[in-house]
Amino acid sequence: MACGLCGTDVHIFHGDKGAADNPFPIVLGHEFSGVVEEINVGGGVRPHVAIGDRVCVDPNVLCGRCEFCLGGIGHFCEGMTGIGTTVDGGFAEYCAVPLTQLYKIADDCTYGRAALAEPLSCCLHGIDGCDIRAGENAVVIGGGLIGLIMLQLARMRGAASVCLIEPVAEKRALAESLGADLTIDPFTRDAAQELWKNGIRRVSTVIECVGSVKTVEQAISLAGKKSVVMLFGLTKPEDSLSVKPFDFFKREITLRSSFINPYTMKRAVDLINGGKLELDSLISARLPLDGLGDALGNPDIRKSGKILITPWGGA
Ligand SMILES: [Zn+2]
Ligand SMILES: [Zn+2]
Repeated sequence: MACGLCGTDVHIFHGDKGAADNPFPIVLGHEFSGVVEEINVGGGVRPHVAIGDRVCVDPNVLCGRCEFCLGGIGHFCEGMTGIGTTVDGGFAEYCAVPLTQLYKIADDCTYGRAALAEPLSCCLHGIDGCDIRAGENAVVIGGGLIGLIMLQLARMRGAASVCLIEPVAEKRALAESLGADLTIDPFTRDAAQELWKNGIRRVSTVIECVGSVKTVEQAISLAGKKSVVMLFGLTKPEDSLSVKPFDFFKREITLRSSFINPYTMKRAVDLINGGKLELDSLISARLPLDGLGDALGNPDIRKSGKILITPWGGA
C-alpha cells in the first residue's frame, strides 16, 4: 500500500556500492506496509497474522545460525536477506515476505505512517547509542526525515534542548513545529556562536544525519565535554576525514555509529501505533508506481522531504 523511497534506493539505482550487494534485476523498496492477501505456510505453523490484516515489514531477515546471529548481533548476519535490497521488495503491487517479518499496525494507523516503521527502527538503534541523559543538550545536524525523527526521539529521551542545523528554511520551520528549541541555518550563521548566544554552553550529544565529511567535522567540532557524536548519516565508502586525537582527549568525545535496526522494529511499531511521533508532516508526496523512475532519477523531486510510492493509491 505504501513504500518509502530511501537514500539507499537512490544509491542502488545509481550503482553506488552501499550496505548490501544487490543482484540485478531487482524490485527495490524496503520501507513498506500493506495488507495480507495470502498466507502460505507448512503444516503445523500457526501464523500470527490473518488474511486482511494491515501490516508493516521488517526487511532484514536474519539467518539465525551464523557467528553474528548466535552472538546476539544479528544485524551483522552473514546470511542476511534484505527485502528490497537482495530480494524483491515493496515498490510493487504485491510482495512475498516471510511471516517472521510482519508487524500488525493499529486500525487508525495509516499505511504511510506504517511505512516509516523501518527508518524509525534504525533511528531507535541510533538514539540508543547516544545515551542522552534527561536535562542535557542535543544537536541534530540535518533536517530530512531521519533528522526530524531524531529530533523527536531526543526530546522523548528528556533532552533539555534540541537544536537542529539545516540550511533549508521549510525544514527548519517544520523542526520548530516539532519542538526544536533552536534551529540554525549553517550557510548564514556560525552554529557554535548561535548555541553560545542561546545559552547552550555544553552539547552532550551531536547526531549527524547528513553523511557528508563537512557535517561530520561540524558534529565533532560542536561536541562538548564528555559528549557522544553519533555518526548516523551514510557517508560514501571512499570518504575519509582528518581528526585531531587531542580534541577527543581534551573533551572526552565518544564517536559512535549505528548500523540498521537490531531488535528495534517492535518498538518502532509500538511508537507509531501509539501515535507517539509526528510523522504525517514528514511525508512530502505520495506517487503512483510509475512515478518511481522520476523520483529516483530527479533529485529535485526528493528535495522537499520523504516520498512514498503508493501502488494502490490513497494511504
Ligand atoms: Zn531505508
Ligand atoms: Zn546470521
